[in-house]
Amino acid sequence: SKPIVAIVGRPNVGKSTLFNALAGERISIVKDTPGVTRDRIYADVTWLNHEFTMIDTGGIEPDSSDIILKQMREQAVIAMETADVIIFITDVRQGLVDADLQVATMLRKSKKPVVLAVNKVDDFKTQEIGIYEFYNLGIGEPHAISAEGKMGLGDLLDVVISHF
Ligand code: GDP
Ligand code: MG
Repeated sequence: SKPIVAIVGRPNVGKSTLFNALAGERISIVKDTPGVTRDRIYADVTWLNHEFTMIDTGGIEPDSSDIILKQMREQAVIAMETADVIIFITDVRQGLVDADLQVATMLRKSKKPVVLAVNKVDDFKTQEIGIYEFYNLGIGEPHAISAEGKMGLGDLLDVVISHF
């Protein structure tokens, strides 16, 4: 079967925007038993003759930092259990925050490859400098993207498929 790529990250970093940019129209929603795990959204993606299934693990948008952290832990667990490659997405405008570090620590402990995307780099000239602090996550090279502007996505996918 196809490799599975899961997208993990804090609320509002742009997970769904990235997912939609890559997914086109082929989206399906899989509902879980209530209380077990959150609904996941799946899409089939083809990049350079490589097919994979992409999962957006983001559920409802929580409004307290405790719940955000709990949801991120759940996402990380789902991703580590089911994915072949994990895209961990952060936000250059908010910079590196504690919740990013906590999830990175969880992801590092899995044996799964993690590809680090730093989103909202809408202007590579002025904002790319901001990606370097994300090396502190200890999960490798940060890749600048703009999910909304559809920039950097091809380079990101090249790295993702290199792990299949
Ligand atoms: P999610 O909660 O991680 O799924 O984030 P969303 O995909 O819902 O995006 C959250 C907000 O960030 C929305 O207002 C998006 O329009 C915005 N956003 C997403 N990607 C980009 C980007 O590349 N640049 C900018 N400036 N905003 C973005
Ligand atoms: Mg979302």
